[in-house]
Amino acid sequence: MALKIVGLTGGIGSGKSTVARLFADLGVPVVDTDDVAHALTGPGGAAMPALVAAFGDAVRRADGALDRAAMRDRVFADPAARARLEGILHPLILAESRRRLAELSGPYAVLVVPLLFETPAFLAEVATTLLVDADEDKQIERVVARSGLAPDAVRAIMAAQLPREERRRRADAVIVNNDDLAGLALQVAAKHRYYLAKLANPSE
Ligand code: ATP
Repeated sequence: MALKIVGLTGGIGSGKSTVARLFADLGVPVVDTDDVAHALTGPGGAAMPALVAAFGDAVRRADGALDRAAMRDRVFADPAARARLEGILHPLILAESRRRLAELSGPYAVLVVPLLFETPAFLAEVATTLLVDADEDKQIERVVARSGLAPDAVRAIMAAQLPREERRRRADAVIVNNDDLAGLALQVAAKHRYYLAKLANPSE
């Protein structure tokens, strides 16, 4: 039977990577599209020739990797440039994610997609969706602590993402990450049991 895929998503700083790690601790294989994107845009990455062709040498660092800051500046406030960037990256990320998933075995795997509900091609890949949801104050607090970004900068990123309520409405299941890591681990363990039962034996 084909590997079933749980699409894991959530707003910035909601705890996606942390939840993905907790699934991995339980033996569930995980593919993270952020990791895939990094590999594709690293030195010699498969996306680099197309990105340089579209945006010029200014977006390539001396080591051949994408200059993320230059790229951010380039697409900031330029929706057409952003669409061009996504038009190059999304199909490559999808293809490489599929390739990595195809190598996995087990009852199910987790695919981490930050903008899962915004990107239909990824949504089409997954059997079910799992949202990591956190209060907006928690998101801001965690991202500020992790990255040193100003709270207003985090709010601006959040404003560009799907509204929290919309994500909650669309998700098949939700993990709430407002408390400590022990509570989060318990929720992940419960979802793991559920997915083992539901996805591995869909007829039961
Ligand atoms: P991004 O969207 O920015 O990639 P993310 O959704 O993957 O973020 P994480 O990186 O998992 O979120 O979490 C953001 C930060 O908050 C990390 O530094 C993480 O260690 C911390 N964190 C996440 N959940 C908790 C928790 N329940 N208690 C304390 N710290 C937490």
